[in-house]
Amino acid sequence: MRTGRYAALAAVVVLAVAGCAKDDTGGTTESGVALVKSGTLTTCTHLPYAPFQSKDASGKVVGFDVALIDLVATRLGVTQSIVDTPFEGIKSGADLNSGKCDVAAAGMTITDERKQVLDFSEPYFDATQALNTLAGKEVKTLEELKGRRIGVQGGTTGDDYIKAQVKEKNLDLEVVAYKDLAALQQALATNQVAAAVGDLPVWNEYIKENPGQAVVTAGFDTGEQYGFAVKKGNATLLKAVNDAIAAARTDGTYDKIYAEWIGAKPAS
Ligand code: GLN
Repeated sequence: MRTGRYAALAAVVVLAVAGCAKDDTGGTTESGVALVKSGTLTTCTHLPYAPFQSKDASGKVVGFDVALIDLVATRLGVTQSIVDTPFEGIKSGADLNSGKCDVAAAGMTITDERKQVLDFSEPYFDATQALNTLAGKEVKTLEELKGRRIGVQGGTTGDDYIKAQVKEKNLDLEVVAYKDLAALQQALATNQVAAAVGDLPVWNEYIKENPGQAVVTAGFDTGEQYGFAVKKGNATLLKAVNDAIAAARTDGTYDKIYAEWIGAKPAS
């Protein structure tokens, strides 16, 4: 009776251990960086966000951010794997906290609010906001959009900026938030909104890819800087990210990646 009970208990333990072994419980690189999946640097992003991250013709996620995080992965001796997930979970820190990914790379602006819940890398890109309309329907100021609809991407700095402007200047504008960039661009293309506001580099890319359709009619110099993010307190991974960016800036790799994905650098 007694032996039987122990045998049953042992069987349960063996099953439990075998069950766990099937899941990857993470790993540690040679340089001592803990990762959620062994041999992989798992990146959370929110697609599409060309030229920072978008799918190429073969379905592979490519772009400026992808190329920079590849450098981090190489330094760690692992390969990058990208998870597409809503921006809310990225900026709130939830995805990093729950172990969905090791790093967030999503054309994400460093803000004081986000710094409370994420640890950001050194800035790797400067951005501003752009006001966009369809060609032939140019509107250059928010005031001129009186009584009309303006589209933003929900939960982004562009969304925050426009809502703050509406409040501050008491503008008569209906702000419509879309779930991703593709939905926002579609809304502009189909006249659901009279104008759209978002990060200048992604709108420049859209205009390049769809010539003659939309135009940037004004810029708002919000002085934004993009940063990659890790889970709060993950200093070893943050250092690897910062080291990779610094090395790329020094050895010319950053400029090469910039030229490939963004184009000529603005004269400074
Ligand atoms: N840079 C903007 C922000 O951080 C938009 C980012 C994005 O949509 N991926 O809010």
